[in-house]
Amino acid sequence: MVVGFLAAGAVLIAAAEAEKELWKVNDRSRPAPPVITPGECSTQDRPGRPPSDAIILFDGHDLSKWRAADGGDAKWTLGDGYFATTPGTGDMYTREAFGDCQLHVEWSTPNPPHGVDQDRGNSGVFLHGLYEVQVLDSYQSPTYADGEAAAIYGQYPPLVNACRPPGEWQTYDIIFHGARFEGGRLAREARITVMQNGVLVQDHVRILGPTTHMKRLMYLPTPEKLPLKLQDHNHPVRYRNIWLRELGPEAQPSV
Ligand code: MG
Repeated sequence: MVVGFLAAGAVLIAAAEAEKELWKVNDRSRPAPPVITPGECSTQDRPGRPPSDAIILFDGHDLSKWRAADGGDAKWTLGDGYFATTPGTGDMYTREAFGDCQLHVEWSTPNPPHGVDQDRGNSGVFLHGLYEVQVLDSYQSPTYADGEAAAIYGQYPPLVNACRPPGEWQTYDIIFHGARFEGGRLAREARITVMQNGVLVQDHVRILGPTTHMKRLMYLPTPEKLPLKLQDHNHPVRYRNIWLRELGPEAQPSV
Protein backbone atom coordinates (compact mmCIF):
# COMPACT_ATOMS: atom_id res chain seq x y z
CA MET A 1 0.00 0.00 0.00
CA VAL A 2 2.78 2.41 0.96
CA VAL A 3 4.84 1.39 -2.06
CA GLY A 4 1.81 1.86 -4.33
CA PHE A 5 1.12 5.30 -2.89
CA LEU A 6 4.75 6.41 -3.29
CA ALA A 7 4.93 5.10 -6.85
CA ALA A 8 1.73 6.89 -7.87
CA GLY A 9 2.97 10.08 -6.22
CA ALA A 10 6.26 9.85 -8.07
CA VAL A 11 4.39 9.54 -11.39
CA LEU A 12 2.36 12.69 -10.63
CA ILE A 13 5.48 14.65 -9.70
CA ALA A 14 7.30 13.44 -12.82
CA ALA A 15 4.37 14.52 -15.02
CA ALA A 16 4.33 17.99 -13.45
CA GLU A 17 8.09 18.36 -13.91
CA ALA A 18 7.84 17.20 -17.54
CA GLU A 19 5.19 19.86 -18.20
CA LYS A 20 7.47 22.58 -16.82
CA GLU A 21 10.32 21.41 -19.08
CA LEU A 22 8.21 21.94 -22.22
CA TRP A 23 9.14 25.62 -22.22
CA LYS A 24 12.45 27.43 -22.32
CA VAL A 25 13.14 30.20 -19.81
CA ASN A 26 11.30 33.39 -20.91
CA ASP A 27 9.86 31.52 -23.89
CA ARG A 28 7.69 33.99 -25.87
CA SER A 29 5.81 31.16 -27.56
CA ARG A 30 4.46 30.03 -24.19
CA PRO A 31 0.68 30.74 -24.00
CA ALA A 32 -0.28 33.78 -21.95
CA PRO A 33 -2.58 33.26 -18.95
CA PRO A 34 -6.26 34.18 -19.38
CA VAL A 35 -7.10 37.80 -18.61
CA ILE A 36 -9.69 38.39 -15.89
CA THR A 37 -10.89 41.39 -13.90
CA PRO A 38 -9.93 41.07 -10.23
CA GLY A 39 -12.53 41.66 -7.55
CA GLU A 40 -12.67 44.11 -4.68
CA CYS A 41 -12.21 43.44 -0.97
CA SER A 42 -15.21 43.42 1.34
CA THR A 43 -15.84 45.83 4.18
CA GLN A 44 -18.05 45.27 7.20
CA ASP A 45 -20.80 47.24 5.47
CA ARG A 46 -20.49 45.85 1.97
CA PRO A 47 -19.43 42.56 0.37
CA GLY A 48 -16.65 42.96 -2.17
CA ARG A 49 -17.02 42.22 -5.88
CA PRO A 50 -15.88 38.72 -6.94
CA PRO A 51 -13.32 38.30 -9.73
CA SER A 52 -14.83 38.14 -13.21
CA ASP A 53 -14.26 34.39 -13.67
CA ALA A 54 -15.84 33.34 -10.36
CA ILE A 55 -18.84 31.05 -10.04
CA ILE A 56 -21.23 32.92 -7.77
CA LEU A 57 -22.74 30.66 -5.13
CA PHE A 58 -24.47 33.40 -3.13
CA ASP A 59 -24.71 37.09 -3.98
CA GLY A 60 -27.11 38.08 -1.22
CA HIS A 61 -30.35 37.49 -3.09
CA ASP A 62 -31.41 33.83 -3.30
CA LEU A 63 -30.52 30.26 -2.39
CA SER A 64 -31.01 28.81 -5.87
CA LYS A 65 -27.48 27.37 -5.94
CA TRP A 66 -28.11 25.42 -2.73
CA ARG A 67 -30.17 22.43 -1.64
CA ALA A 68 -31.03 20.47 1.47
CA ALA A 69 -29.40 17.10 2.18
CA ASP A 70 -32.42 15.28 0.72
CA GLY A 71 -32.14 17.22 -2.56
CA GLY A 72 -35.06 19.53 -1.79
CA ASP A 73 -34.98 23.29 -1.54
CA ALA A 74 -32.56 24.86 0.92
CA LYS A 75 -34.19 25.41 4.29
CA TRP A 76 -31.90 28.05 5.70
CA THR A 77 -33.13 31.60 6.33
CA LEU A 78 -32.60 34.31 3.74
CA GLY A 79 -31.95 37.76 5.24
CA ASP A 80 -31.01 41.16 3.87
CA GLY A 81 -27.88 40.29 1.89
CA TYR A 82 -27.11 37.13 3.84
CA PHE A 83 -28.44 33.72 4.76
CA ALA A 84 -28.29 32.07 8.15
CA THR A 85 -28.27 28.56 9.46
CA THR A 86 -31.74 27.64 10.62
CA PRO A 87 -30.99 25.33 13.55
CA GLY A 88 -32.35 21.84 13.12
CA THR A 89 -32.94 22.03 9.36
CA GLY A 90 -29.77 20.16 8.48
CA ASP A 91 -26.67 20.85 6.43
CA MET A 92 -26.87 22.70 3.13
CA TYR A 93 -25.16 21.62 -0.10
CA THR A 94 -24.38 23.25 -3.42
CA ARG A 95 -26.50 21.87 -6.24
CA GLU A 96 -23.40 21.69 -8.41
CA ALA A 97 -20.32 19.55 -7.71
CA PHE A 98 -16.84 21.08 -7.74
CA GLY A 99 -13.30 19.79 -7.85
CA ASP A 100 -10.09 21.62 -6.99
CA CYS A 101 -10.95 25.24 -6.32
CA GLN A 102 -10.38 28.64 -4.79
CA LEU A 103 -13.31 29.36 -2.49
CA HIS A 104 -14.29 32.65 -0.86
CA VAL A 105 -16.77 32.58 2.05
CA GLU A 106 -17.80 35.30 4.49
CA TRP A 107 -19.39 34.44 7.82
CA SER A 108 -20.55 36.07 11.01
CA THR A 109 -21.37 34.45 14.36
CA PRO A 110 -24.28 35.61 16.56
CA ASN A 111 -23.96 38.84 18.52
CA PRO A 112 -24.55 38.91 21.43
CA PRO A 113 -22.87 35.52 21.63
CA HIS A 114 -24.52 32.51 23.25
CA GLY A 115 -22.84 29.49 24.81
CA VAL A 116 -19.22 28.55 25.30
CA ASP A 117 -16.56 26.35 23.75
CA GLN A 118 -17.92 24.37 20.75
CA ASP A 119 -21.47 25.49 21.58
CA ARG A 120 -20.86 29.06 20.38
CA GLY A 121 -21.39 30.14 16.78
CA ASN A 122 -20.51 26.72 15.39
CA SER A 123 -20.88 25.91 11.70
CA GLY A 124 -18.39 24.76 9.10
CA VAL A 125 -17.29 24.82 5.48
CA PHE A 126 -16.88 21.27 4.18
CA LEU A 127 -14.74 21.00 1.05
CA HIS A 128 -16.02 18.15 -1.12
CA GLY A 129 -18.65 17.85 1.62
CA LEU A 130 -16.03 15.86 3.54
CA TYR A 131 -13.27 18.02 5.03
CA GLU A 132 -14.27 20.73 7.49
CA VAL A 133 -12.75 24.16 7.84
CA GLN A 134 -14.27 25.02 11.20
CA VAL A 135 -16.51 28.05 11.63
CA LEU A 136 -16.81 29.03 15.30
CA ASP A 137 -16.90 32.05 17.57
CA SER A 138 -13.29 31.75 18.75
CA TYR A 139 -12.92 35.41 19.73
CA GLN A 140 -11.74 35.36 23.35
CA SER A 141 -13.57 32.03 23.68
CA PRO A 142 -11.36 29.00 24.38
CA THR A 143 -11.86 25.49 23.04
CA TYR A 144 -9.54 22.65 22.02
CA ALA A 145 -6.93 23.75 19.48
CA ASP A 146 -8.00 21.59 16.54
CA GLY A 147 -11.60 22.73 16.99
CA GLU A 148 -11.02 26.51 16.85
CA ALA A 149 -12.25 28.65 13.99
CA ALA A 150 -10.12 28.01 10.87
CA ALA A 151 -8.98 24.63 12.19
CA ILE A 152 -9.13 21.68 9.86
CA TYR A 153 -11.43 20.11 12.40
CA GLY A 154 -9.80 17.35 14.41
CA GLN A 155 -6.58 17.56 12.40
CA TYR A 156 -4.82 20.93 12.32
CA PRO A 157 -5.27 24.00 14.57
CA PRO A 158 -4.97 27.32 12.72
CA LEU A 159 -1.45 28.81 12.71
CA VAL A 160 -2.83 31.81 14.61
CA ASN A 161 -6.19 32.89 15.99
CA ALA A 162 -7.12 35.71 13.57
CA CYS A 163 -10.75 36.00 14.65
CA ARG A 164 -12.85 39.12 14.72
CA PRO A 165 -15.48 39.72 17.43
CA PRO A 166 -18.89 38.06 17.14
CA GLY A 167 -21.25 39.86 14.80
CA GLU A 168 -18.45 41.10 12.53
CA TRP A 169 -18.00 39.68 9.04
CA GLN A 170 -15.00 37.41 8.61
CA THR A 171 -13.52 36.01 5.42
CA TYR A 172 -12.14 32.64 4.43
CA ASP A 173 -10.14 32.34 1.23
CA ILE A 174 -9.49 28.66 0.73
CA ILE A 175 -7.36 26.78 -1.81
CA PHE A 176 -8.49 23.18 -2.08
CA HIS A 177 -6.92 20.31 -3.97
CA GLY A 178 -8.95 17.15 -3.66
CA ALA A 179 -7.64 13.64 -3.13
CA ARG A 180 -6.82 11.50 -6.15
CA PHE A 181 -7.41 7.79 -6.47
CA GLU A 182 -5.96 5.35 -8.96
CA GLY A 183 -7.29 1.84 -9.21
CA GLY A 184 -9.32 2.40 -6.06
CA ARG A 185 -6.23 3.36 -4.08
CA LEU A 186 -5.26 6.71 -2.64
CA ALA A 187 -2.71 8.33 -4.95
CA ARG A 188 -2.67 11.83 -3.44
CA GLU A 189 -4.18 13.19 -0.24
CA ALA A 190 -6.31 16.34 -0.29
CA ARG A 191 -4.55 19.63 0.50
CA ILE A 192 -6.03 22.77 2.00
CA THR A 193 -4.72 26.32 2.40
CA VAL A 194 -6.78 28.92 4.28
CA MET A 195 -6.47 32.67 4.70
CA GLN A 196 -8.72 34.04 7.44
CA ASN A 197 -9.30 37.79 7.31
CA GLY A 198 -6.24 38.01 5.05
CA VAL A 199 -4.01 36.03 7.42
CA LEU A 200 -2.48 32.64 6.55
CA VAL A 201 -3.95 30.10 8.98
CA GLN A 202 -3.56 26.78 7.09
CA ASP A 203 -0.56 26.33 4.79
CA HIS A 204 -1.15 23.60 2.20
CA VAL A 205 -1.81 21.03 4.93
CA ARG A 206 -2.06 17.35 4.05
CA ILE A 207 -5.57 16.16 4.93
CA LEU A 208 -5.59 12.94 6.93
CA GLY A 209 -9.08 11.83 5.90
CA PRO A 210 -12.73 12.91 6.07
CA THR A 211 -13.78 14.95 9.09
CA THR A 212 -15.50 13.36 12.02
CA HIS A 213 -15.57 13.80 15.79
CA MET A 214 -13.09 12.16 18.22
CA LYS A 215 -11.67 9.66 15.72
CA ARG A 216 -9.91 9.26 12.37
CA LEU A 217 -11.61 8.15 9.18
CA MET A 218 -9.74 6.50 6.31
CA TYR A 219 -10.02 7.86 2.81
CA LEU A 220 -12.48 6.07 0.58
CA PRO A 221 -12.42 6.55 -3.21
CA THR A 222 -14.47 9.60 -4.22
CA PRO A 223 -15.18 11.41 -7.51
CA GLU A 224 -13.00 14.39 -8.40
CA LYS A 225 -16.05 16.65 -8.12
CA LEU A 226 -18.42 16.76 -5.15
CA PRO A 227 -20.78 19.37 -3.67
CA LEU A 228 -19.63 21.90 -1.11
CA LYS A 229 -21.38 21.67 2.26
CA LEU A 230 -22.16 24.18 5.02
CA GLN A 231 -22.82 22.73 8.45
CA ASP A 232 -25.92 23.16 10.59
CA HIS A 233 -24.54 22.89 14.12
CA ASN A 234 -27.68 24.38 15.70
CA HIS A 235 -26.39 27.95 15.75
CA PRO A 236 -27.70 30.80 13.55
CA VAL A 237 -24.40 31.62 11.83
CA ARG A 238 -24.70 34.03 8.90
CA TYR A 239 -23.05 33.75 5.47
CA ARG A 240 -22.68 36.16 2.56
CA ASN A 241 -20.65 36.67 -0.63
CA ILE A 242 -19.76 33.07 -1.49
CA TRP A 243 -17.91 32.45 -4.74
CA LEU A 244 -15.60 29.87 -6.19
CA ARG A 245 -13.07 29.52 -9.00
CA GLU A 246 -12.40 26.03 -10.26
CA LEU A 247 -8.71 25.17 -10.68
CA GLY A 248 -7.50 23.27 -13.71
CA PRO A 249 -4.46 21.06 -14.26
CA GLU A 250 -2.19 24.11 -14.52
CA ALA A 251 -2.82 24.74 -10.81
CA GLN A 252 -1.82 21.33 -9.51
CA PRO A 253 0.70 21.17 -6.66
CA SER A 254 3.87 19.16 -7.30
CA VAL A 255 3.85 17.84 -3.72
MG1 MG B 1 -18.32 23.00 12.88
